[in-house]
Amino acid sequence: MLEEKRPLVGWSDVPSSPEVAEVIKKMKRSSLRWTWVFTLLFPVGFVIAGLVSDEVPLNEVVMIGGGLGLLMLVINLWRISGTKKPAWDGVVIKKLEKKRWKNDKDGTSQSYTEYIVVIRTEAGKKKRIVERQGDMYDYLDVGDRVRYHPALESYEKFDKSKDTYIYCNICRLRNSIRNDRCERCNHLLFK
Ligand SMILES: [Zn+2]
Repeated sequence: MLEEKRPLVGWSDVPSSPEVAEVIKKMKRSSLRWTWVFTLLFPVGFVIAGLVSDEVPLNEVVMIGGGLGLLMLVINLWRISGTKKPAWDGVVIKKLEKKRWKNDKDGTSQSYTEYIVVIRTEAGKKKRIVERQGDMYDYLDVGDRVRYHPALESYEKFDKSKDTYIYCNICRLRNSIRNDRCERCNHLLFK
């Protein structure tokens, strides 16, 4: 087997590689395409529904459909603008589990656990990772240095030397730390 060539302590050079730049470009293009699809879906869908049914006046249908389309546009553009922000570094300062309740359709409540990782950024801000599954909750420990990659909406750990696994920053699959490339998407792992 090949000896590990890339060091497991330190920030990865992979995020600035041409391969990852290409992936980010493709993701941006596809999220813009979906933004337009969803923005148009509501007005078009509502107008068709309005033409088919006589129950609701057409101008009301156009207003509601147009409003929802506009809302989709704003939400998506806001999300896309978030992915353009620069990466930030921080340290995990706290991990907590919270019991939450959700209401089912039949009126009963069900509990679930929310896994929260609190990070203090170098700029002194507090960021929280909130999960249902707890992948990052298990992966990160208090004291770990982490870097957030907004374009990929994923985290990288500074010191991976004690880990047996690593998450793919592109498709999120859990890989063995021995892998250089992800078993699912075949892109470079951030190490
Ligand atoms: Zn992957």
